[in-house]
Amino acid sequence: MSETSTNNLLISPAPLVDIGVNLTNSRFDGKHDEIIEQSLEAGVKTLIVTGTSVAESEAAFKLCQQYPEQLYFTAGVHPHDASSYDNTTSATLKDLSKEAACVAIGETGLDFNRNFSTPEQQIAAFEAQIELAIETGKPMFLHERDAFTRQFEILKSYRDQLSNAVIHCFTGDQKSLFGYLDLDLYIGITGWVCDERRGIELQQLVHNIPLDRLMIETDSPYLLPRNMVKKPKDRSNRPAFLPWVLHQITQSYQQHTLEKDGVAINELALAIKTGDNARTFFNLPSVEHPQEKEHDPVSDFYRL
Ligand SMILES: [Zn+2]
Repeated sequence: MSETSTNNLLISPAPLVDIGVNLTNSRFDGKHDEIIEQSLEAGVKTLIVTGTSVAESEAAFKLCQQYPEQLYFTAGVHPHDASSYDNTTSATLKDLSKEAACVAIGETGLDFNRNFSTPEQQIAAFEAQIELAIETGKPMFLHERDAFTRQFEILKSYRDQLSNAVIHCFTGDQKSLFGYLDLDLYIGITGWVCDERRGIELQQLVHNIPLDRLMIETDSPYLLPRNMVKKPKDRSNRPAFLPWVLHQITQSYQQHTLEKDGVAINELALAIKTGDNARTFFNLPSVEHPQEKEHDPVSDFYRL
């Protein structure tokens, strides 16, 4: 990866997808042009805007209409907002899910850390959204904090009917990582892994994730990667900072293995792999990787 001198961006060696951007957050008001331009410059070509409530999901859809080349969105209600989930919510989310830019149901799941909504409300809203995902065939964008046992049980009982799901911003322990992988889920890793204080356990764990189950995200404006050399003055995270997450994950894998699933671990390989995983998972247009094409034996044959 190279670093530009002008703005201290790390540039990804292959097109990345940031699978979790809270672009409707008020901290980004009036800055969308700049945020997206800067992401493109850093090689973060596609952003999935997270829908955390009906209003935020609708706002996310509006943003996608403004930037159809770069943005897609998820439609859902976050566990913190589960108390707002009523009879009309599923119908509204279902309407949103019909839009081509809607690539997943969520953010949903369970958060027993702060219980802004009661556990009962969270479980009811979660199950309603699982049913919506089954009905629409869309993958799920999932959140979980301090609620592994219950979330695992619920997901397990529906797993056979669900197309796909990602545990976004995974920060759990080995037991929960292995549990989610047993359910054949994808794992989203944020800048939490870059935190030299609370991210140590995750740094030791990430190499256990098979390369075909790994995706990366910023969860911006939250979780500014602490390994950034020069941090922005406003301390707001941005999708353009995703390569710092890629950088840390590469180091964490390399500490345990230099090769995984037959792939040599380096930033290019992980950029290609995590980007391709996200493009497949969210059903996005595929991109060409020139580095790969150069070594395509078939075209090499015709070049002779
Ligand atoms: Zn979350």
